[in-house]
Amino acid sequence: MKNRYRLLLISLLMILLLDITACTRGQVMREPNQRAKVQQIHYKEWLEAANRMPYEEHRKHIQNMSQLFPGVVFYKGNPNKKWVALTFDDGPDNYYTYKILDILHEKKAPATFFIVGKEAKMFPEVLKRIVSEGHDIGNHTWDHMNFNSLNTSKVKQEIQKAEDEIQRITGKRTDLFRPPYGIATVEDIKEIHNLGYRVIDWSVDTVDWKGSSAREILTFVNQEVSPGGIIVQHCMAGKKGELDGTVKALPRIIDRLRAQGYEFVTVHTLLGS
Ligand SMILES: [Zn+2]
Repeated sequence: MKNRYRLLLISLLMILLLDITACTRGQVMREPNQRAKVQQIHYKEWLEAANRMPYEEHRKHIQNMSQLFPGVVFYKGNPNKKWVALTFDDGPDNYYTYKILDILHEKKAPATFFIVGKEAKMFPEVLKRIVSEGHDIGNHTWDHMNFNSLNTSKVKQEIQKAEDEIQRITGKRTDLFRPPYGIATVEDIKEIHNLGYRVIDWSVDTVDWKGSSAREILTFVNQEVSPGGIIVQHCMAGKKGELDGTVKALPRIIDRLRAQGYEFVTVHTLLGS
């Protein structure tokens, strides 16, 4: 009786062992192809979830707006120059913005920061540092509200209130504007243009605010970058997100793109003014 149990136990162990070996072997053999596929789909999935519209549709929306408003709406610069612009949205804050500024300083890479007015009011010294270290700034509204829920006069207020705060702190006014979530209607864009701004979208979305890892961010940049590109990242983490991936990826983005012959410029330089 005892022997029968022992035999049963040994058989079960052998079956389990064979099963594990088969699984592991399967994984190792499948991994290279699967990984390449996952990365590509993954990027589109991130973007679609973030923008709440299909990847191609969002891209088309940005391109349509720049065609409808030539010289006003931009998502990239001159493709004949191997320039690229790093942009950081939603700050300043008193944690990630410092880390990002330290890296940009060490790498001697200029960037453009799209400033949220109420954040600037909380952290004026950080905004002063951004400007004093030679970076470009643009207006990103007072409170980062989605324009879909605002009428045009409220849109105007959101922009002007932020601009007044930026001027109070830095003594400068900006002429670059980025709508929250990159979404603005035709009416909004006419109003923004009347206020004296150019609207700056992007050609490379890192979806970093969602907590992308450094590896994912590097993959996204690698896949999407082209001469004249505008890369969007963040320097303020918002409610849930964290930007450790952004900070970790940044020096590597700079080194890798420079090795490919890219030069980092501000948005003003990228647009030729
Ligand atoms: Zn934003």
